[in-house]
Amino acid sequence: MKVALVGIGKIAVDQHVPAIAASPDWELAATVSRHGAVDGVEAYTDLSACLAARPDIRVVSLCLPPVPRFDYAMQALNAGRHVMLEKPPGATLGECHALEAAARSAGLTLYATWHSRQADMVAAAKEWLADKALQSLQITWKEDVRRWHPGQAWIWESGGLGVFDPGINALSIVTEILPVDIHVTGATLEIPENCQTPIAARIAFHHPGGADVTADFDWRREGDQTWEIEAVTDGGALTLADGGAVMRVNGESSGDTAPLGGEYPRLYAQMAQLVSRGGIDMDLRPMTLVTDALALGRRIATDRFED
Ligand code: NAP
Repeated sequence: MKVALVGIGKIAVDQHVPAIAASPDWELAATVSRHGAVDGVEAYTDLSACLAARPDIRVVSLCLPPVPRFDYAMQALNAGRHVMLEKPPGATLGECHALEAAARSAGLTLYATWHSRQADMVAAAKEWLADKALQSLQITWKEDVRRWHPGQAWIWESGGLGVFDPGINALSIVTEILPVDIHVTGATLEIPENCQTPIAARIAFHHPGGADVTADFDWRREGDQTWEIEAVTDGGALTLADGGAVMRVNGESSGDTAPLGGEYPRLYAQMAQLVSRGGIDMDLRPMTLVTDALALGRRIATDRFED
């Protein structure tokens, strides 16, 4: 299948381009980006020009930041193309629902990807937790924003999500591995006085079985980076470390620490399957948890952030 990649920035170059190149299912037929391009691939700066010139491209994969994504996605759906969305699938839940309705009525595939769910040990963690009673679950997602998002002004603007941009990855894993749904009961948001989005957040969740579930997101962590989920159950303790690449159960470790490992190849394999069977996958639960934390969160002004 031919795919057009839109928004040639960090994640497109780091993950999408190599995943497409390595896949037997996909051919990178065009890019759409105002500044970026990929060597040897037809480049457009405008999506409508690409859609008009290349009716043979049936799939559009959007790697833009969340705020501009809705207009691009709707344009592609209106032109009869299947759409794959980077996470988060939009800036608001309302626009995600509108995209899903449009895809459904046109009979097109729409895929809200959550790359962290494809991390190596997530499926194994889900299987291990399935028959256990959860007592507590602690998410710790602490990284250095200057290292992972250098110069990205959009993450600090409204709709950019701030520390929830990586934090939503943890929430995408938790909503995948827990057999029941959780919801937000309270949050504290630390927002630099010159920014619109949080640099740190702590969240408390309701779990239907009464387990103590919390999250601690912080973008100010220098040195060792932590992307961990620790669950304590009636059958022992499980830790998912390195963003889901490593699992420790009762002290025994499995998995490898390759960052993002096979996540994007698995997303593109999943998209190929969805297109071939005409499916839609728009699980918005991670985004609901983030928007609820932003709605309930107590705001604390903190030091200015300078990149
Ligand atoms: P990025 O490099 O800052 O942006 C990607 C590209 O989008 C830019 O190069 C730009 O291309 C285009 N763009 C930016 N603002 C735009 C606007 N207002 N209108 C139209 N196009 C715009 O961001 P990124 O890190 O790749 O992240 C993009 C998405 O991928 C985010 O939703 C992020 O959460 C997700 N993601 C990122 C990572 C990561 O490690 N960075 C990992 C996983 C997922 P042109 O200027 O050439 O048009």
